Amino acid sequence: MVDHWTPILTMTIPSTLRVLFLASEADPLVKVGGLGDVAGSLPKALHNLSGRRVDIRLVIPFHGSIRLKKEDLHLAAELVLPHRDGQILTKVYETTTNGLRVYLISGPPIPMESPVYSNDQQKDAFKYIYFSLAALQLTEKIGFCPHILHANDWHTSAAVYAMATHHSSASYLKSTASILQVHNLPYLGETTSPVLEGFGLPPSDHFRLPVWAQNMILPLGLLTADHIVTVSPTYAKEILTSEFGSGLQDFLRARANSISGILNGIDTEYWNPMNDQHIAAKFSCEIIQNRVENKRSLQEEINFRTNVEIPLIAMISRLDYQKGVDLAISALRILSDKPWQAIILGTGSPELEKALSQLEREFQNKFHPIFRFDPALSRKIYAGADMLLMPSRYEPCGLAQMIAMRYGCVPIAHSTGGLKDTIRDDPTFQDGTGFLFHEPTGGALASTIQRALDVHKQPNIWQQLQSNGMRMDFSWERSARKYLRLYETLIASKDL
Ligand code: ADP
Repeated sequence: MVDHWTPILTMTIPSTLRVLFLASEADPLVKVGGLGDVAGSLPKALHNLSGRRVDIRLVIPFHGSIRLKKEDLHLAAELVLPHRDGQILTKVYETTTNGLRVYLISGPPIPMESPVYSNDQQKDAFKYIYFSLAALQLTEKIGFCPHILHANDWHTSAAVYAMATHHSSASYLKSTASILQVHNLPYLGETTSPVLEGFGLPPSDHFRLPVWAQNMILPLGLLTADHIVTVSPTYAKEILTSEFGSGLQDFLRARANSISGILNGIDTEYWNPMNDQHIAAKFSCEIIQNRVENKRSLQEEINFRTNVEIPLIAMISRLDYQKGVDLAISALRILSDKPWQAIILGTGSPELEKALSQLEREFQNKFHPIFRFDPALSRKIYAGADMLLMPSRYEPCGLAQMIAMRYGCVPIAHSTGGLKDTIRDDPTFQDGTGFLFHEPTGGALASTIQRALDVHKQPNIWQQLQSNGMRMDFSWERSARKYLRLYETLIASKDL
């Protein structure tokens, strides 16, 4: 495990660093989940860094949901991708977002009508492996030879593997170093094997890779990337354990020297309570007293008793087992006779929706679930609720806790992954920004909520927690500087 990356200074780092950044989605063009946030923000932050010029080109599939005016697009290249069943004609369009050059790959494996991720794993495998190889071939067509290939999750791992195995699509990239960023390890690309072979990418028989993983694209990327980076330092350690390693822990331990973790950031302009058009009262750390207006307004909007003394607990999350929604349900039941109000905004598992609706019947007037994806309402909740629950069983990084802190909403979270790295639970409250619990059980969460309810009764201490959280620097610039250092180190070591 590498904690500190020190550039090797015997090598001259080029004054302009060229990076090819591949992702399945990128905000604002197309966003389905957290990966879209990262691919939308990190390249932009790297591009805007002062000090060294980073010429970063973002490549994403031209999904049907991407809406762009004709005049904002131009044809950058036409490619022919070899495949066992015949050549695949490909068009690549170029556009600019936030000053960043973006390439959109278009061809039959990326049908206009199909969603970013479908239920058909074979089709998704075909789409993303094709996309990854087309992105590599594109570099030669446009004369852009990157120092770094930065791939994300299983969708773009084929680019890493193709480069390492000297696939024809990568013939231009002889000295490019590769980074594979892992956002969520359990998505291994289980059904990618026949598709890989169709594109002339054979399985590996490397002795360290478990046999069952030798034809899955994420493990193949993890095997061959020059460096693996996870989205938080703690998650980088956790994936080496049997609990979080998805069966790859022994193999990953053997690669530990090439694994590190860099926290994601949040867009601090987009998430700025001083400039948020959706909330009732704007506020900052200096005028935190204004925040109470948002709580009152939220209580009114969801038909709760309007009393700002009652602690208001919130959760904004995918409704998924990973997120510990069931733990929140049992904790609230344990604390049923305490004074609180709670709201959950989320979409996902029908079973969890049913369980939450049942809880609402038990706790009318104090518990209200809302089953929709509603970014405007999420802002009102971050700005008005007192506490945000994040009882995730595992959490590679997590954004909601960082947004909550920026909005003075104190997180109560399971001490895992990025939650552990971003939230400080200080018993003296001097440096604290939230509350952490260690065992992912309803009981442990309930006692931690109780601890928070007790502190909430002491306004001065509570305000200290809020302002500590609001002062944290979760900006992308901070993360981008760490990526830049990692790029420099890799370039230097590749050259030695
Ligand atoms: P993950 O990416 O695993 O779903 P994160 O905490 O990293 O979890 O990011 C979740 C993001 O999605 C946050 O910005 C959160 O505010 C937002 N979000 C989740 N559910 C909803 C919802 N129902 N409505 C609006 N925003 C939501």
